[in-house]
Amino acid sequence: MTSSSASFLVDLRELKLDDARALLEHSAQTLPDPAAGATSYLQTMIDKLGELSLKDPLTGLANRRYFQNVLMREIEMVARSGEPALLLMLDIDHFKKVNDTHGHPVGDLVLQGVAKALASCVRPMDTVARFGGEEFVIILPSCQGLYGQQVAERIRETVGALAQPLPTGEHLKVTISIGGAYAPRWVRSTPELWLDRADIELYRAKTEGRNRVCIEPQPMLAVSAEEKNLLFGPLSLGDPAWIESIANDGSASSSGAASNSLN
Ligand code: GH3
Ligand code: MG
Ligand code: MG
Repeated sequence: MTSSSASFLVDLRELKLDDARALLEHSAQTLPDPAAGATSYLQTMIDKLGELSLKDPLTGLANRRYFQNVLMREIEMVARSGEPALLLMLDIDHFKKVNDTHGHPVGDLVLQGVAKALASCVRPMDTVARFGGEEFVIILPSCQGLYGQQVAERIRETVGALAQPLPTGEHLKVTISIGGAYAPRWVRSTPELWLDRADIELYRAKTEGRNRVCIEPQPMLAVSAEEKNLLFGPLSLGDPAWIESIANDGSASSSGAASNSLN
């Protein structure tokens, strides 16, 4: 055995794995068997911890960290392929009142029920994540035409039809507001800009009365893929906000951001 390969040998007894084991145990994970050998034991431990770090513990959905990775990957895909992708932001209406009236544990049950309903409404290729609190996000790749509006409406109706059983025997219903925005096609946006646009639509859904879907109209680009590359390709190193505005409505020539990025 060479000295370099010997330096990779690990003695499990020298590692402090108690916290990692406790973490997995508390998350109802089956612990790996050390008898299977040190390498297999460590590999399983790392895999399970990795998986845990990407999941929301309350709902079992993907967490915000996982979502950010998928969002960035999707932006790359849309920039290269031009396939339309839709981002939905969903927020439970008047959720504070649920907690205030029925208590936090009932609020938690509602969150779990809503999460399950969301996961049941989408395709395997879609990503549903808990964004934080009572907010969720869904990324729908290859989301053609009216499919986005239809799926968002279906989600809204499915959540609205849920009836959470309460200890009193009553059933609790909640509604959800949804905002959506398509990634600008053929150009490289940023996760922040895409999220901001979906968030503006969510805000609109809230202010227009809640329990509704507002999706930004999909930017219509009539030029070919090659033309788009010629148009936007050299500029994709510039200000993403300006690139998005030109992709959306072609009015960037009159915006301040445009002159900044061209100077
Ligand atoms: P709106 O319709 O404008 O969205 O009103 P809202 O009451 O849903 O919004 P607000 O932001 O005022 O309240 C959100 C509430 O969500 C407050 C917070 O206590 C609750 N919340 C956040 N995370 C959790 C959680 O993990 N469990 C429970 N039970 N409640 C949570
Ligand atoms: Mg909220
Ligand atoms: Mg809310």
